Amino acid sequence: MQTTTTPDPLPLPVPDADWTAFVQRRAADNLAAARAGVEQLAERAAGTGPATDDPAEVMARWNDIGTAIDNVAQLGELLAQTHPDEAVRTVAETCQQDADRLATEIGLDPRLYRVLAGVDADALDAAGRRVLERSLRDFRRAGVDQPEEVRDRLRALAERQVQLGQRFDKNIRDDVRSIRIAPERLAGLPADYRAAHPADADGLVTITTEYPDYQPFKTFATDAAARRALTVEFLNRAWPANDAVLTELLAVRAEQARLLGYADWADYDAEVKMVGSGSAIAGFIDRIVAEAQGPADRDRQVLLDRLRADDPAATGIDAADNAYYAEVVRRERFDVDATKVRRYFDFPAVRDGLLAVTGRLFGLRYREVTGAGGWHADVTSYDVYAHERLLGRIHLDLHPRPGKFSHAAMFPLVSGIAGRQLPEGVLLCNFPRGLMEHSQVVTLFHEFGHLVHHVLAGRHDWGRFSGVATEWDFVEAPSQMLEEWAWDPQVLGSFARDETGESIPAELVARMRQANDFGKGYFARTQMFYSSLSYLLHHERVDDITAFSQQLQRRVDAFDPIDGTHFHAGFGHLVGYTSAYYTYMWSLVIAKDMFSAFDPGNLFDAEVAGRYRDQVLAAGGSDDAAVLVERFLGRPYTVDAFSAWLAR
Ligand SMILES: [Zn+2]
Repeated sequence: MQTTTTPDPLPLPVPDADWTAFVQRRAADNLAAARAGVEQLAERAAGTGPATDDPAEVMARWNDIGTAIDNVAQLGELLAQTHPDEAVRTVAETCQQDADRLATEIGLDPRLYRVLAGVDADALDAAGRRVLERSLRDFRRAGVDQPEEVRDRLRALAERQVQLGQRFDKNIRDDVRSIRIAPERLAGLPADYRAAHPADADGLVTITTEYPDYQPFKTFATDAAARRALTVEFLNRAWPANDAVLTELLAVRAEQARLLGYADWADYDAEVKMVGSGSAIAGFIDRIVAEAQGPADRDRQVLLDRLRADDPAATGIDAADNAYYAEVVRRERFDVDATKVRRYFDFPAVRDGLLAVTGRLFGLRYREVTGAGGWHADVTSYDVYAHERLLGRIHLDLHPRPGKFSHAAMFPLVSGIAGRQLPEGVLLCNFPRGLMEHSQVVTLFHEFGHLVHHVLAGRHDWGRFSGVATEWDFVEAPSQMLEEWAWDPQVLGSFARDETGESIPAELVARMRQANDFGKGYFARTQMFYSSLSYLLHHERVDDITAFSQQLQRRVDAFDPIDGTHFHAGFGHLVGYTSAYYTYMWSLVIAKDMFSAFDPGNLFDAEVAGRYRDQVLAAGGSDDAAVLVERFLGRPYTVDAFSAWLAR
């Protein structure tokens, strides 16, 4: 990092300005610049342009092309998800698609590959060499260096993979199943749920397998037979239709990997992640399964004992009963009443508390920006300072409205480049304007972890290192670690107050934490069942996926499969995560290890927090995540802190 002038924030229009023109202008300017850069580099490949012997200049131009495309893709994706005007959302989506298409073309352009492959790496500094190596690796992973007939086949396979993934998802979405039951069988469910499910003319109530129906029913319905009937329907979504789709999808991925020179898809996918190889995924799963065995058995026995109090004949417990009894145990053992907890979390105080906590932790100051523009009146913007130096700008868009992204996530608006672009990021969430659930407070801290990562890592020369640019299986670790601050009695006590001004009692926070931690061992084993299914299906050829999955579940999960169900057919993460579902638990292991460097009695220790900020967050993608973590901890990461947490 060098001392450079601070770039200006991106000027945004005010809410009722012409956003279509704004998006189209930014897209047109940046895409034109990117295309011009591509043609200039391509001329070198043809030998008709300027001399090709200036490696630094080639790399600078390559960096500019990537930055210009990111500028379009990021603004497009953000506004497609959040602009209140549907016409603007549609234009934004088109801009994003144009950027994605250009990025794909570039990745498959043999001329650009030849130019970069011809760059003398020894003439570059270490950062430039890293960018060059990673870029060449991307080209090879796309198959640019393959003969033309192989490239044609890879293109066809990539298209087929997209189609099959879409069909797999659609089959799950479209196969909404249901049970029809007498109204009294809704016993145990909250009044608003029952009111939303009135009986039909024939006197029966319909409960579907959609999450807003299914999750509460599985958690609260006291009728065991009805819970089981609905769970069986849920676990049969998209079956048998998705058996054939999944079989072809796995075959397509296997062929792609083989053509590119990898043993299987898992090895291909793992190459660019911390885990490194398919066999390392298997090793990680085995390790976590072993670590979780004791804690899983312990908590499952608690569930089974409680089930036997209702049904003395029960010999085991499975997915039809585990969520319900976990809730019973949490209520009876830890006495946490969510409605009593909510009154401490009033949205404006939580938002201000979050800013105060993270500001103190990372040595930052947030100054609210007024009159800076934005797509909706709900958006609040802040400039982020450290020692009076402007580091970036953040935008918080935290309440629901029609047409807006319905989950919680951080969206980059601008990737920071030293001296050229100020990093800007946006949180899109859907929190109430009044009292929040504590789980929503945890989500807010989590997503803010991504936001602060994006801003702090926004002063590199290379776009490739900017922001949340680390390996995919590390990306969640900083956010998972920041969740710890939302569970600390002192931290919560600093901003969570009820109407009378009383801070949330430390003893209540401790019970909330215990209730939340209950079942973490069997949760880990269920996660490892999903992870091993995701890995093994991409590692070996499986003829009968149902039989394979059930056998695997018996070995890895803490709960046995339910006969006559077909979990894999509705396992939508096989499309996006492919063989890498392990990533959630992998980054949690590292989050727990990094958190072990903090003093639980003083989560604001400036020395530890400052090292974490500078060595892990600000580093972005400039080094491998394992190296960053080792620099911070003074040793390689281990599973120890995670194991100790599981056993607690
Ligand atoms: Zn996250």
